[in-house]
Amino acid sequence: MSYSASFWEKDSFLKPYDLIVIGAGIVGLSSALFYKRKNPSDRVAVLERGFLPQGASTRNAGFACVGSIGEHLADMSKESEENIKVRIKRRYEGLELLKETLGEAAIGYDDCGGFEFFRSEDTFNKVAPEVDRFNRWMKELIEEDEVYSTGQMQGYPIIRNRLEGALHPGKMMEELAGKVSGMGIDIKWNSRVNEVSDSGEVTIANGPILKAQKVLFAANGFVQRLLPDLDINPARGFVMVTNEQRHLPWKGIFHHDRGYIYFRNIGNRLLIGGARNLDKDGEQTDQFGANETIKSHLQEFVSEALEFGRDWGIDYEWSGIMGFTSTKTPIVKQLDKHRFVAAGLSGMGIAIGMEVGQGASEMITAA
Ligand SMILES: Cc1cc2nc3c(=O)[nH]c(=O)nc-3n(C[C@H](O)[C@H](O)[C@H](O)COP(=O)(O)OP(=O)(O)OC[C@H]3O[C@@H](n4cnc5c(N)ncnc54)[C@H](O)[C@@H]3O)c2cc1C
Repeated sequence: MSYSASFWEKDSFLKPYDLIVIGAGIVGLSSALFYKRKNPSDRVAVLERGFLPQGASTRNAGFACVGSIGEHLADMSKESEENIKVRIKRRYEGLELLKETLGEAAIGYDDCGGFEFFRSEDTFNKVAPEVDRFNRWMKELIEEDEVYSTGQMQGYPIIRNRLEGALHPGKMMEELAGKVSGMGIDIKWNSRVNEVSDSGEVTIANGPILKAQKVLFAANGFVQRLLPDLDINPARGFVMVTNEQRHLPWKGIFHHDRGYIYFRNIGNRLLIGGARNLDKDGEQTDQFGANETIKSHLQEFVSEALEFGRDWGIDYEWSGIMGFTSTKTPIVKQLDKHRFVAAGLSGMGIAIGMEVGQGASEMITAA
């Protein structure tokens, strides 16, 4: 006789769940946390395919940011001002929710400020006149005065955002996972979901079929594998960290080229990433890996623009997978009686991931 679950297992571990969340990234874990707060006696599980979260939440740059003016201006060529304002406010409030829920110390938060870095005076001169407008917006949106100011750093023009900061994504996710487990939610690692039926049957690779009243897809850049019709495309992001520098003048988080390149310090090391725009089609993939064109562009940027010269090395490099919607607005919706989705964080998940999870939990509770 083949392996089958025992009576005891079916009456304990395998009992039907009220909610199963697919994906233990910031969105999946936050959804489970806020749902359980509202529904303390419900049985909840989070299923994660990896030994760790294996998408973007532990593999990002740790920018706690609302986006640079250059990024917003680029978005404004495709979207309305009103959309941009909504997004800035959402990012700001999402970060406040994250800090309040997990605690600044626990997530390694550093209110170091954010800087938009310009390699040329010409580009700076196109963006700098917008500072007054964005300061008026910030006053209107979040009641903060003089958020942006212009200045110089290492001889380069910059625009500073005094409210941005950096955090430690590993510590953030460890804290969040700890809180979620502490509430009695089962986090099942190494549990890849292969299929979810419209009656709420969840098939795990090499594992049992679990039953749930409600199932939330929070698999972001991988969600199309389970729900091919969703308007969410994968996008790979590449990051590297240099060896320790004797003197690193770049302290804080830095945005460049409409947000496509980003860098920050980790102690005396430099983290740099991005440049996905150099090969957007090639990077529309959910496979981890490095693109040599992008990597050498970033290396050259460090050597030339940041003036590291040739005498530096890479100690760490990795990639992460994001999920982008065509509008950059995440998709949070009910698909049918049992199935829901919260995905498509469009590269902003540190800022808005917890708030998206909170919204998803309210939608599921109300359904
Ligand atoms: C290189 C890089 C830098 C970034 N920098 C920043 C930044 O500085 N600031 C910022 O705000 N955002 C940043 N982001 C974006 C941010 O990290 C993401 O938006 C956010 O982590 C998305 O969270 P999520 O929970 O939706 O997805 P994820 O964290 O990707 O979680 C989805 C989870 O689902 C799991 N999964 C997938 N398929 C299955 C399956 N079939 N069964 C079970 N589990 C499954 C995955 O393994 C994964 O753990 C960056 C992203 C990258 C890649």
